[in-house]
Amino acid sequence: MTDSIFSKIIRGEIPSHRVYEDDFVIAILDIAPLSEGHTLVIPKEPAATIDELSDDHSAAVGRVLPRITRAIKKVTGATSVNILQNNGADAGQAVEHVHFHIIPRFKDRNENVSGSPDKNNGPGLRLDWTPGTLTAEEALELGKHIKRLL
Ligand code: 5GP
Repeated sequence: MTDSIFSKIIRGEIPSHRVYEDDFVIAILDIAPLSEGHTLVIPKEPAATIDELSDDHSAAVGRVLPRITRAIKKVTGATSVNILQNNGADAGQAVEHVHFHIIPRFKDRNENVSGSPDKNNGPGLRLDWTPGTLTAEEALELGKHIKRLL
C-alpha cells in the first residue's frame, strides 16, 4: 500500500484535470504529456504495481480503457494509440501507484514518428525494441513454471 501523488489526486487533495470517474477508477490528463491527449487511467486501489492490484480493480480498468481511448481518439484525431504501463523503477515507473498511460499517436506529427530518428526532435514516445530469441526448449521450460502458478 502506498500514498502516492495519485492517491492525493483521487482524494481531491491535489488538483487534476479529471476526464472520467467511477467507483473504482479515475482518468486524468497527464501533467507532462508525451502527446496531445496523453491520459492516465488510475485504479483507486493504492496498489504500487500491477501484480499487487486486485481482480476487481483490474477488471474495472480493463472495462473503461477502450471507452476512454475511443473518446481521446475522437477528440484529438489520433491515428494510433499506445497503452503503456510501467511497473517498478527498473521499468521506468516514477509514481508508485498503478496507472495506465493512453498515449495518442499521430501519423503526421514529428513527435510521434516511430523509427524515424531524424524526425524525433520533439516530445513524444520513443519505442526502441531489440528483440531476442526463444528456443522451443526454453519456451517449454519457462512456460511450465509460469503455468504452474496460474
Ligand atoms: P510513470 O513513469 O510512473 O509510468 O509515469 C508517471 C506519469 O505521471 C508521468 O507521465 C507524469 O507526467 C505523470 N504525473 C506525475 N505527477 C503528476 C501529477 O501531479 N498530475 C498529473 N496529472 N500527472 C502527473
